[in-house]
Amino acid sequence: MKKTSGWPLPARMGLAAEFYQFCKLHELRFQRCTDCGTWRHLPRPICGSCGSFNYQWARSSGKGKVYSWITVAQPMLPAFSAAAPYTVPLVDMDEGVRMVALIEDTPPESMRIGMPVEVVFDDMTPEITVPRFRRAG
Ligand SMILES: [Zn+2]
Repeated sequence: MKKTSGWPLPARMGLAAEFYQFCKLHELRFQRCTDCGTWRHLPRPICGSCGSFNYQWARSSGKGKVYSWITVAQPMLPAFSAAAPYTVPLVDMDEGVRMVALIEDTPPESMRIGMPVEVVFDDMTPEITVPRFRRAG
């Protein structure tokens, strides 16, 4: 059984649904303003830099560096108990946005600020794929 079996699945509504459709294709894409070029994440309708509603879903390199993290020892939801302890980093992506996702195969004691990470994809169900991180290089 997969470690993530039975985990709650992300809501797929509006722009978040579009984000997860790309994840299903194993593509990490963020919105990028087509007027000023600013990347944005989490998905939202308006550019925080210039106020434009225009954007494209631009492909991310999938690479970034750890800004910070938490290690969960006692999950709030029983569904996560079997996975604990697990670590969830906040990552500065190469595109300049910050992203949160669980990191795989990285013991908490080996986490470092600035550690390079890359995105991998977890096909949680036939319909839902979510991004995860793993240590890069
Ligand atoms: Zn803009």
